[in-house]
Amino acid sequence: MTQFDYDLFVIGGGSGGVRAARIAAAEGGARVGLAEESRMGGTCVIRGCVPKKLMVNASAFPHLIEDARAYGWQVTGGAFDWPAFRATLAAELDRLENAYRGTLKGAGVTIHDTRAVVEDAHTVRLATGERFSTRHILIATGGWPFVPDIPGRELAVTSNEMFNLPALPKRALVVGGGYIASEFAGILNGFGVQVTQYYRGAQILRGFDDEARGHVAAAMQAAGIIIRCGTDVARLEQTATGIRAETIDGAAEEFDLVLYATGRKPNAHGLGLEALGVEIDTAGAVKVDDWSQTAVPSIFAVGDVTNRVNLTPVAIREGHAFADTVFRGVPTQFRHENIASAVFTQPELGAVGLTEEQAAARGATDVYVASFRPMKTLFAGRQDRMLMKLLVDVETRKVLGCHIVGEGAGEMVQLAAIAIGMGATKEDFDRTVAVHPTAAEELVTMRKPTRRVGQTA
Ligand code: NDP
Repeated sequence: MTQFDYDLFVIGGGSGGVRAARIAAAEGGARVGLAEESRMGGTCVIRGCVPKKLMVNASAFPHLIEDARAYGWQVTGGAFDWPAFRATLAAELDRLENAYRGTLKGAGVTIHDTRAVVEDAHTVRLATGERFSTRHILIATGGWPFVPDIPGRELAVTSNEMFNLPALPKRALVVGGGYIASEFAGILNGFGVQVTQYYRGAQILRGFDDEARGHVAAAMQAAGIIIRCGTDVARLEQTATGIRAETIDGAAEEFDLVLYATGRKPNAHGLGLEALGVEIDTAGAVKVDDWSQTAVPSIFAVGDVTNRVNLTPVAIREGHAFADTVFRGVPTQFRHENIASAVFTQPELGAVGLTEEQAAARGATDVYVASFRPMKTLFAGRQDRMLMKLLVDVETRKVLGCHIVGEGAGEMVQLAAIAIGMGATKEDFDRTVAVHPTAAEELVTMRKPTRRVGQTA
């Protein structure tokens, strides 16, 4: 039997790669090497979910300070000290990166802090010139922000730069209508930046439930964000006073910062994969089967590089399933269904299952909607409304989807996802006694459908 240097070599130290490496080594007894050319932890920890959520938290304080006053506290809000926050954030990311390293080392994984490429089906080559033979290779190289090829694109920043800006701008343009664009629009607005968001389509957050995205967009606008739909940047130009953005319809505005959040592309090229027969699809992603295996049997891929569902917890589950299958003798496929997620816009959007539009296309659906002013902010004199929505199959009474907009939406939808994943019916929800007084109790107290959509079979 061939003796390899490693049983598994993982390229990429992000969410998917780290989980696979740890499980293969600690629970599968595999000899594992992992190469990471940047910082351990990948997009989620270093330039994504984690710092983003901390920035969302930081940007929410102006409201909290106002609420505190309404609740009787004699507080005065001061200015936001971006450099101070940025330094604390950087220290927290250092701590997390070290924790990731510690976990891998504790599991017995050998870390190579350099770039690696695939030389053949069982060999990786490091940028240092070292080569290692390995029984299996896992590609977990993630994705990278994509900026369309418009004149002046070099003047724009991407989410990568947002955590380390030298100073906060006065006027910002956010281009795109997805998760990242909408989340940063809220963050910057909370920090006191004047924010304009351009989105080429009719409504931001395409793919989410129409009513929920409309609710989020209206609240973002009410909070002061200018959302311009149906427009796009044609060119960017540096002027003496800022960056001039000319739109496709010939209008022009000036900003101090232009953030492009127009999607991400898989990091699949330049790894030597195509030459070996690993297929890359038209979106530039590594093609894998349900076992995350590529066309080359010894090479697997997980996470954003495969462009299935680009979320950290999904990459983790794909990496775990791979390690269980290949190194623990427990064949496991991760099924990409009923994946709950949250968009940390302000207000937050939590969603699981079908949207109303998808449910209606599938068949007759009862739509239960509650829209109300939550007690906490109502008392403080805020106009915020929460939205809760359940989509119920008329025939089976199964809850097909749940959409929540408002404070704690992500937390609530996590729990709703358990029930929905178990096949809960509307009657199961109704039988559940409310926890009072909470906002979440609305989920179990919606008695009558607001409307019925879709055709009966
Ligand atoms: P998304 O794919 O969510 O959004 C991209 C946005 O950019 C869309 O509005 C899209 O418009 C627009 N767009 C794409 N190409 C162009 C172009 N050439 N010109 C103008 N506009 C364009 O990508 P994001 O970058 O926001 O996020 C990347 C991934 O990261 C997401 O898929 C998500 O899975 C993940 N993510 C998850 C988060 C969470 O769970 N909270 C947070 C952040 C990211 P259109 O709708 O018309 O295609």
